[in-house]
Parts: sequence; structure tokens; C-alpha cells
Amino acid sequence: MNYKYDVVIAGAGPAGIAAALEASRTGSKVALIERYGIVGGNLTSGYVGPVLGSVCKGTIASEIRERVCPQNSDCPDFEKAKYELAVMLYEENIDVFLQTLVTGAKVTDGVIEYIEAFGKSGKMLFEADIFIDATGDGDLAVACGCEYKIGRESDALVQPISIMFTITGIDPEQKLLCRHEEDYTILSDGREYLDLCHKSSKNGVLPENVNIVRLYSTGNPTERMVNATQRNRVNPLDPKELFASEVDVRGQIMQITRFLRSEVPGFENITVKSSASTMGVRESRRIIGDYVLTADDLMNGREYPDSIVHRAHFSLDIHNPDGAGQSVSEVACPPTPKPYDIPYRAIIPVGIQNMLIAGRCISGTHEAMSSYRVMTIAMAIGQAAGAAASLASSRSIRPRMLDAGLIREHLIMRGVEL
Ligand SMILES: Cc1cc2nc3c(=O)[nH]c(=O)nc-3n(C[C@H](O)[C@H](O)[C@H](O)COP(=O)(O)OP(=O)(O)OC[C@H]3O[C@@H](n4cnc5c(N)ncnc54)[C@H](O)[C@@H]3O)c2cc1C
Repeated sequence: MNYKYDVVIAGAGPAGIAAALEASRTGSKVALIERYGIVGGNLTSGYVGPVLGSVCKGTIASEIRERVCPQNSDCPDFEKAKYELAVMLYEENIDVFLQTLVTGAKVTDGVIEYIEAFGKSGKMLFEADIFIDATGDGDLAVACGCEYKIGRESDALVQPISIMFTITGIDPEQKLLCRHEEDYTILSDGREYLDLCHKSSKNGVLPENVNIVRLYSTGNPTERMVNATQRNRVNPLDPKELFASEVDVRGQIMQITRFLRSEVPGFENITVKSSASTMGVRESRRIIGDYVLTADDLMNGREYPDSIVHRAHFSLDIHNPDGAGQSVSEVACPPTPKPYDIPYRAIIPVGIQNMLIAGRCISGTHEAMSSYRVMTIAMAIGQAAGAAASLASSRSIRPRMLDAGLIREHLIMRGVEL
């Protein structure tokens, strides 16, 4: 089957969805290709919340957040998210190809002629003026021959992978929440919760590399989202390692639940309500672009003439690739950059003329990526990529030739406070 669109986007996670919405609203005919049977990426099948990070006002990220999070909460209602994200794409007349894996590309002289995908009806070819890789792993860019980096500069290790889950059956009188390493929470029996987590990790009640069990509010006092499982030193691009991790990490869910039941007052009757349907990958490939964002850029709150995301804000949140905890400075609070910008050049892949990158696989270092990977910032990048793709398509020019001033004007006209 052959298809032709103005803009084709691989990956319907937060970045891909924002890109698709913006490109369509800018007047392009858009296809969005997703390997799973559901849109949303980590925001649905990955069970990831809260929606962290911030950017300037007026982006699609705020619109999406309002649609998927209950009022006054930044934690998504995942069932609502599954529906609302699909409805947003449907109402925009975007052609969404579910259960369709992007597998390859035909590239001539740096120009993608078409990309290949495989779905239930077999092989599909997609032609487009502009393609966007929003797969998180940079699958399309790599199929096009783009260069990439993975993990730490020193040893290529990436942040640990995890499965998020939700527990139910908590005594509503117990208000225990734990979002950060620096939270200090006294349990009703007088013990300190973080201290309990650390000791339990040491004495084998919790897995050795799980020394904090983060508990987030879902808005329901009898439930908590749990962010705790992790497996270190995994190559997230190796399917066999992913299966071994699936066995290990799903076992951790059981162990962590037993810990909470036996150790935490008010949690005696909890059960696992639900969990991510797929392993959560925090970090994999980072495609090399015309500009490589660094931690220094972020820490100094750097702005650029071609800024397409403004006032992005989140800590350098590197979960320890080697073991338990956060590794950047071995202190409780990871460093927090000043609000920073992302330049258009960081989403233009070196060597390819008609593709942009969006989301966590854009061009940056391991350290910088640990900040802009969060969903609010990923969505803002996606929106900018969608705008740029559509503007380039309607002018029949390559994204690299597009004046970033036009993208900025367009986003400002859309209400983004760039
Ligand atoms: C365990 C964990 C906890 C996290 N905690 C938080 C948090 O609390 N708050 C926060 O804001 N962020 C958090 N993050 C980070 C955040 O979820 C991601 O960085 C963010 O979702 C990136 O968005 P994305 O659209 O780039 O990628 P993704 O959400 O990964 O979406 C990529 C999409 O592309 C699809 N895809 C991949 N390959 C292909 C292919 N070849 N063909 C077709 N489709 C493809 C995937 O199925 C997916 O739908 C966490 C991440 C993990 C893993």
C-alpha cells in the first residue's frame, strides 16, 4: 500500500502527538504512525506521570495537560488520556496508523524518498514533503543513516529502565506521598519513610537497586502511583535484554508491593491496580543535529536567535545508570538549570534534508537530555517540529532552508509566548 502526505510523523508519543496537531492546524495533511495499538507513548502505555517540566505559556503542552490531567493535578488520568489524545487527533482529521512499525527508509542524496512501515495489512510506503522522527529511540533517523550517540560519554550506559504502576486499597486516612529524594516523611508509627526505604534496600526487603519508593497522588486517596522499579545497565535497543528486564522488573513490582504491605501503616490491604503495558525507556539514542545541546547551555539558561522552545525548565534528572538513586552529584537534589531555550538547529538531523526530530531523541548530550526528556518539554519540541514541517512543506523548501524567524512568528501567532 502506498500513501502520500505533506507531513509524516513516526511515533505517537507526547512529542509526536503535539507535532501532528500543530502540523495539521497549520494546514498540512498529516499521517501519524504508531507501533502500538494506542496513542500517547509514555503518557498512556508507559503509565508515566506526573507531567513534569515547564515551558513558556501558550503551548499545546498546556492544552494536552488540561485534557488528560484531573483539575489541579499534574498526574494524568491514564484512562482519560487514552481517550482524549485519540479524540484530539481524530477531530483534527489526522490519519493515525496504529499497530504499524516504521521499519526503514529509501534515502537518495540525503533526501528521504519514502519510508517503510509494517502493519497488519503488510508493508506500507509513505511519501511526504517532510518527515518527523518522534519515536523516542530515533528509529527513523537511524534507518536514514543518521549518526547518533547513546548513554554516557564515558561508557555509553543509559539511565535505568522501569515499569510504573498504581496501587489501590490504601487507608484514606494515611496521607503518605513521596515525590523526591529530599522528602522527609514521618510514618504514623514514628519511623521515617525514606530511611525505611534505604534500610529495606540494604537488608533485602526491597531490591538492592531500589532504595526509594516514590508515591505520587492520583487524586484518589486510596491510590498511589508508584515510581520505584528499575533495572540498570540494560541496552534498551536489545529485545532479549528487554525480555529479561520484563521478568526482573515485574518481579520487583511484586516485591515492592509486599514491602509496602508489611512495612507501611495503612498500606496493609493494597493490591496492584494496574501497570504500564510496556517497559519504560528513559534514554536511548540521541540523534546528532546541527546543534548539540549541552548541560552548560541549560545551566546558563542560554537563548538563541533560532529558539523554538522558550523557558524550558526541569532539573538535570539522571537516574543512576549504574545502581540505585540519582548520580549526577550524589546529593539529594539534582542541579536545576535556569529556564533555557532549545534552538531549531537541535531538531535538524545532520545529513538528511527533509526530516526533523522531536521529543527525547533530539540532539543533545546525555546530561542535557535528562532535563528536556520530560513530557511538557517533549511536547513543546513536538509542536515546534510540527510547525516547522508544515511551514517548510507549504513553501516547498527543506527545513534547513526555513528561516527560524518564520517558525517563531508562527508560534507567537498561535499564542506561544516565545
Ligand atoms: C519510567 C519513566 C518515568 C518517567 N517519569 C517521568 C515523569 O514523571 N514525568 C515526565 O514528564 N516524564 C517522565 N519520563 C520521561 C518521559 O515519559 C519521556 O521522556 C517522554 O514521554 C518522551 O516523549 P516522546 O514522545 O519523545 O517519546 P515516547 O513517549 O517514548 O513516545 C514515542 C512513541 O513512538 C512510538 N514508536 C517507537 N518506535 C516506533 C517505530 N519504529 N514505529 C512507530 N512507532 C514507534 C512508541 O510506541 C511511542 O508511542 C519518564 C520516563 C520513564 C521511562
